[in-house]
Amino acid sequence: MQNSTVPPRFSRREALRTLIVASGMTVALLRQRALSAAAPGAAAPGAQAPHLDVKDPAAVAVGYVEDAAQVDAKKFPAYSKGSNCANCLQLQGAEGASYRPCTLFPGKLVATAGWCSAWTAEI
Ligand code: SF4
Repeated sequence: MQNSTVPPRFSRREALRTLIVASGMTVALLRQRALSAAAPGAAAPGAQAPHLDVKDPAAVAVGYVEDAAQVDAKKFPAYSKGSNCANCLQLQGAEGASYRPCTLFPGKLVATAGWCSAWTAEI
């Protein structure tokens, strides 16, 4: 026989409430994952980052060109012949690729033959 003065340790109502809260959190997490996977511009795992567009406002701001031979030396008097992304301190990634990451443009690849006014000599 059960003692009617002692309440049950975990009522059916509490169990149901806990289950509903837990399932709601699971649905919210799954929805968040689905949204982030479908986000425009999100690169698939293993996919290469897009090339930096020379018309991108951030690229225009620093005079980025894909071919250092196209640098307007009058507009950028600091440009010195022979300087390009391949010998810039900001360039990342593996040697040999014609497009590589640059610390100045996260998520984009720059042409190793390119140049911008943020060029910094390798140490
Ligand atoms: Fe190229 Fe250097 Fe400018 Fe990056 S910071 S775009 S590597 S010149």
